[in-house]
Amino acid sequence: MSITKVKGVGPKTLNILNKIGINSDIDLVCHYPFRYEILKKTDLTNIEDDSYIVDDGIVETIPYVVHFKKHMDKMSFKLNDGKKIINVVIFNRGFYKAKLPIGTKITIIGRYDVKHNTCVAKEIRFAPLPSKPVIEPVYHVTYGISSKEISKLVVERLKDKVDVIDYIPDYINREYGFMDKESAIKEVHIPTDINNLKLARKKLKYEELFTFMLKMNYLKSKKTNEIGLKRNVNYDEVKDFISNLPFVLTPDQETALKDIYKDLVSPIKMNRLLQGDVGSGKTIVSMGAIYINFLAGYQSALMAPTEILAEQHYRNALKLFDKYDLKVELLTGKTKASEKKKIVEGLKNGEIDLIIGTHALFSDDVLYNNLGLVITDEQHRFGVNQRASLKNKGITPDILYMSATPIPRTYALTIYGDMDVSNIKTKPSGRCEIKTVLKKDSEIKDVLDMMNNELSLNHQIYVVAPLIEESDKSDLESVDKIYENMYKAFGKKYTIGILHGKMTNDEKNDVMNRFKNNEINILISTTVIEVGVDVANATMMVIYDAFRFGLSALHQLRGRVGRNSLQSYCILISDRETERLAVLTKTNDGFKVSEEDFRLRGSGDLFGYRQSGDMSFIIADIKKDFDLLMKAKDDSLKFLELDDSKYDYIKSQVINSTNLD
Ligand code: ADP
Ligand code: MG
Repeated sequence: MSITKVKGVGPKTLNILNKIGINSDIDLVCHYPFRYEILKKTDLTNIEDDSYIVDDGIVETIPYVVHFKKHMDKMSFKLNDGKKIINVVIFNRGFYKAKLPIGTKITIIGRYDVKHNTCVAKEIRFAPLPSKPVIEPVYHVTYGISSKEISKLVVERLKDKVDVIDYIPDYINREYGFMDKESAIKEVHIPTDINNLKLARKKLKYEELFTFMLKMNYLKSKKTNEIGLKRNVNYDEVKDFISNLPFVLTPDQETALKDIYKDLVSPIKMNRLLQGDVGSGKTIVSMGAIYINFLAGYQSALMAPTEILAEQHYRNALKLFDKYDLKVELLTGKTKASEKKKIVEGLKNGEIDLIIGTHALFSDDVLYNNLGLVITDEQHRFGVNQRASLKNKGITPDILYMSATPIPRTYALTIYGDMDVSNIKTKPSGRCEIKTVLKKDSEIKDVLDMMNNELSLNHQIYVVAPLIEESDKSDLESVDKIYENMYKAFGKKYTIGILHGKMTNDEKNDVMNRFKNNEINILISTTVIEVGVDVANATMMVIYDAFRFGLSALHQLRGRVGRNSLQSYCILISDRETERLAVLTKTNDGFKVSEEDFRLRGSGDLFGYRQSGDMSFIIADIKKDFDLLMKAKDDSLKFLELDDSKYDYIKSQVINSTNLD
């Protein structure tokens, strides 16, 4: 069924849906909520101050509206919730006044100030709470569509039967007592109760993990007959390269490069993960690998997750390889068509030795002359698809992954398949430890003082605001609000820039470049600050609502600073989960942080936030659902070995699917 047939989807909505990757009605119903809100009357006795509450009752006094500033108003009235009379305040809903005569039954949702017995509501509903708790889905949204609107469309579509393929084999469904997929989908969008919801989510998570592991295991089983390129390169030539570098490699860097050298000269295919904290110097090691590959006469491709990073690598590579006859080009989504044509030609005829870029490197129209090495930077889940797509091109180059989110070895093996790992544990010398401090929302003045101090030294600062989800607007420090505060504090003397997800790539690049050139002193951004961006003069990282991020993600963000010998700081602002966050104040070692992060993985809290920056399955969470992942791993292995034509369909669908990345 075409998505345009769903009631409510006009051209404008279609456009927005397409932007978030929803192109068909199946995409729509597979766009799962990322968390839930439970609508249940909150018990107001013994409640912590400023808690989020849901309450219903009848309007006890005539609402009183005051107007202030331009177009702002504040409405207040009393609500009798059956046990207690509380004050309700709501902003900018003065127009509700007429709908709220004394005696109206309503529900309010908001934060409760205990001392003043006042709820600052973010929402009023014109009905009492249903007798049974209601679970409401919350969807990731984008500009132009709200979570509620998405929910409406999904509900509309689910009125009719949906034809979804269940990728879990029948016997596994029985073994785990899973519900069928259509019911599971209905349940996650329109929950009937918490238990059913949990079961439904488990089914869908399992399916996601199972298909992922099935594909992974399939590729692994094929790996044994993959013969790699045996290169004839003398290690003395690598030593020359190293001695020509502008700095001395750290022992870990040297060991890693030697590991890679051994892989490249051996006939066995390289499948290696190079792990090391941000700033530990992985890039130069990868350049060494490229150089070895070049000496043997092969092309290399270096893939970065974003254009900004690709460009940064490109500039580094140009400088580094200037003295060698090694031709470097850059290919991203931004490359002009005429330019791209030339590059595609150069790759085909072998003129280009190193191509740096984004996903564009592996699009269908790009063919290589003799690609010998593929390096992917900062990509957690490269693998399944790109490897398959390379295979479709008939090439099996050696592969090096670089990751700044070190993951314990067992996890790495599960996620990336059977691979070797090189670790860079020590940073280049002359770097100061980053000092990390935790601050509460109420201690913002300290934060501003610390910032002021850094700015007066002509150092630069990153300020990170968490991504905004619309239904959450009221309790999130949005980029704009932070900007306003920063402007008040520093606007007279310093330049403040903003970087957020709704900007075009050109706009982002422009801001980033101005930051690099020290034309911007404070850069406020959502987490779009590119992992890996190198601005040595930035010495402070301030992160609002730090509790919303995983420890590893925070550690990565922190790695944006501390890039030279200047003392650098990371300030985590959070009122919640301070115990978890304290891990970061105690260690700067990414491996330790990662272990803690895995150790602290929760038990799959439906109502908690999914942490940004983690490996992104759609519904499963590699940390929280690790046990399920291990089961899926074993099950998929056994399933792969089953010789029953009944299952051919699932196998071929999963193995050939391209939607696993
Ligand atoms: P990563 O990719 O691991 O985050 P980079 O490779 O970007 O880190 O390195 C960060 C910075 O450190 C770069 O400016 C790089 O030139 C520099 N660097 C790398 N290795 C060394 C070294 N051995 N000594 C001094 N500086 C180094
Ligand atoms: Mg890097």
